Amino acid sequence: MAWDFHKQFINGQWTPSTGDGRIDVVNPATLQAFEWVPDGTIEDADRAVGAARAAAPAWAATPLKRRAALMDDMLAHLRLMDDEIVSLEVQELGSPEFFARATHCNYQFERIESYISIAGTLELESNYAQSLVVREPVGVVACITPWNYPLGQVVQKVIPALLMGNTVVLKPSRHTPLTACLLMEAFRLAGFPAGVVNMTSGRGSFLGERLASHPDVDMVSFTGSTRVGVHLSQKALESVKRISLELGGKSPYIWLPGMKDYRPAVDKLFSSVFLNSGQTCTALSRLLVPESMKDEAVRLICETLPAYPVGDPRDPRVKIGPVASRAQYDKVRGYIELGLSEGAVMAAGSVPPAEPAGGFYIEPVVFVDVDNKMRIAQEEIFGPVLCVITYRTLEEAVAIANDTPYGLNAAVYGPHAEAVAVARAIAAGNVYVNDGPRDITAPFGGYKASGIGREGGAAGLLEFTQFKAIFEHGNQ
Ligand code: NAD
Repeated sequence: MAWDFHKQFINGQWTPSTGDGRIDVVNPATLQAFEWVPDGTIEDADRAVGAARAAAPAWAATPLKRRAALMDDMLAHLRLMDDEIVSLEVQELGSPEFFARATHCNYQFERIESYISIAGTLELESNYAQSLVVREPVGVVACITPWNYPLGQVVQKVIPALLMGNTVVLKPSRHTPLTACLLMEAFRLAGFPAGVVNMTSGRGSFLGERLASHPDVDMVSFTGSTRVGVHLSQKALESVKRISLELGGKSPYIWLPGMKDYRPAVDKLFSSVFLNSGQTCTALSRLLVPESMKDEAVRLICETLPAYPVGDPRDPRVKIGPVASRAQYDKVRGYIELGLSEGAVMAAGSVPPAEPAGGFYIEPVVFVDVDNKMRIAQEEIFGPVLCVITYRTLEEAVAIANDTPYGLNAAVYGPHAEAVAVARAIAAGNVYVNDGPRDITAPFGGYKASGIGREGGAAGLLEFTQFKAIFEHGNQ
């Protein structure tokens, strides 16, 4: 499918920007710009919000069954674009094809399906002792998303917001804006009413700011860095908007003694901290092992590294593509240098060259002898960099795990009862025990500086509603 990415989706139509600015989309494996999207103007953002505001009353009054049926149709159209989604994520994000298909594409279809089926089961009205309590849409929701899971982060917001009767203005990341355009086209093909869902493209510091402070926006749902999330919330609170934040992480993975085989734990570690080039908010970037197990753990990790080759994402043997942008490359490289200067020992990997050769490639780095107080253990690196930290007692392991501003994700590998006890003691919104798979219907989100609110399943849908209590004579 040849696609024109040079327009924005406003009021049900593909619309040129009122400005003539362009934002290049660069392929991180070739360093070449291969597409561009409009550098949206304040006027574009205002038009999108105006369309969403005008469409809000009728959409809120549309029965949930009808909204869900339209969403089903949308999903059917989106499924037909699967090869295009995969190809775009290989190009705009540098994702190897196998990962693009499984995670950036098919998993997102599952998420949409899950939201549709759960929406139909929600109790949105209940009788209290002396009142009828209803959950209503919040209104116009601005959805601002990051570049690391380009379609996934959009799906987590736009789908539940719409199902719950809100109208939406989406601003995807300027680094990876292309698959969001396909999603908008699927909404158009499914016949969503004009103005219910809108998309502007552009710079966060400009368009994002406008959306967060726009008087006609009722809620801001943001995924991105903690720094920007806090700033944007301050803006949004000036007009008392609802806020939902999915922010950064520095997640611990605790290995307990007493397991026969640690290879399953190595597989989980690699899929979390190295796949997607380590650019995952939930990356288990701090591995906590008993002091006595350090050498064995490092040996297992280093033995596994050759199974995760780094390279051109179009090569089917490659597991790890480039990092997504020059800014990411420089940031991750800076942290690798910082780790060495802080005294950590590099057990695997190297400092990438200051000038990237061919693409933004960074070999996985394994730092050992890391003290949890080091900046490389406290700050989100968002690249393929693992910190191995040792502990002496279980209490110390839990204390180290919790010694972080963040609280998004964690994992424990060990004898079951002990591992569950440790999972309960960790201050994080999600904790995996042994080979527990991710439950798409469970609430996802962070403690502490990792966020406010939840995505996924019923909790993710209800996030986009507000309570109204109706007191009436007849009920007393
Ligand atoms: P970012 O904070 O730089 O940008 C996120 C979005 O905000 C982008 O659309 C950007 O254009 C916009 N933005 C930037 N400055 C803005 C401003 N001043 N006002 C309004 N909007 C602005 O984050 P990023 O680099 O795109 O993404 C990486 C971050 O996202 C990491 O910290 C990662 O942990 C986090 N993340 C969190 C989750 C989660 O579910 N908790 C998921 C994915 C990514």
